[in-house]
Amino acid sequence: TQRFIWPMAQFGQIINMYQRARASSARIFGLMDEPSRLAEDPNAEDLVVDDGAVAYDHVSFGYDDETIVSDIDFEVEGGETLALVGPTGAGKSTVLKLLLRMYDVDEGAIRIDGQDVRDVTLTSLRRSIGYVGQSSYLFYGTVRENITYGTFDATDEEVREAARAAEAHEFIENLPDGYDTMVGERGVKLSGGQRQRVTIARAVLKDPDVLVLDEATSDVDTETEMLIQRSLDRLTADRTTFAIAHRLSTIKDADAILVLEDGEVVERGTHEELLDDDGLYAHLWGVQAGEIDELPQEFIDRAQE
Ligand code: ADP
Repeated sequence: TQRFIWPMAQFGQIINMYQRARASSARIFGLMDEPSRLAEDPNAEDLVVDDGAVAYDHVSFGYDDETIVSDIDFEVEGGETLALVGPTGAGKSTVLKLLLRMYDVDEGAIRIDGQDVRDVTLTSLRRSIGYVGQSSYLFYGTVRENITYGTFDATDEEVREAARAAEAHEFIENLPDGYDTMVGERGVKLSGGQRQRVTIARAVLKDPDVLVLDEATSDVDTETEMLIQRSLDRLTADRTTFAIAHRLSTIKDADAILVLEDGEVVERGTHEELLDDDGLYAHLWGVQAGEIDELPQEFIDRAQE
């Protein structure tokens, strides 16, 4: 188990070095923190999800005049997992904010089962997409309320089922008031790993067609890490999933991996294909696996350009 932990830590350091070399001023935004400022088309109809296939058709976007992501072009089949990898500021969150329609694309289009996200109602779009994020935000309320948030008609049994699937049921039962324990700001303080599992339970209950996973980097012990991974595996199985990954080990089995640098896709393929390509991904992987000591200077140099 120790072997599992130290390469992660080392990988973190290397990534930090790489990022410092890159855009030190890059701001980090939580995906769901920003309310959409977009107006809805008066003729918008509800999104109808069948397979859950998602297509980015030559998408470009900038928050202002500066282009942040350009010519993003890919398709994900229903049920597949697509991972986005790259340094902070590369544009991973931006790519997914466009899917949730926090912003509209400047060029190109994003379609879910053939429907342009700009043509469907925002409520139906947000209802179809689940989000498990970095901050694992819990509001001040009971554990049950935190799990049912967004799914108001859930029964107690459904809540418990979701918590079990999220590997959260046991620790919740051990809280002073079980599912009625107040958590969040003034409530019982949960660990990062516990908060994360509550948000996973929330997503399990919501049962969305498309899942956006912004992997948390919180320090958790190996056992918690394993529990989280197991619950995420359950959650993402047979569901179209977009994963922003910081630990490459968690996305090794993704159907496709896109490596972003400076808003552009610089590498794409499966884990095996990317290792064969011997580019940025292969080297980041090598560092993480402890096969090479540090990221070759050429990648640091490239990041500084
Ligand atoms: P990543 O998820 O790969 O870290 P982001 O998509 O968060 O990258 O950021 C890409 C770039 O867009 C960064 O330079 C960041 O500073 C910028 N950015 C992100 N959100 C905003 C925003 N709301 N307004 C202006 N610039 C933003």
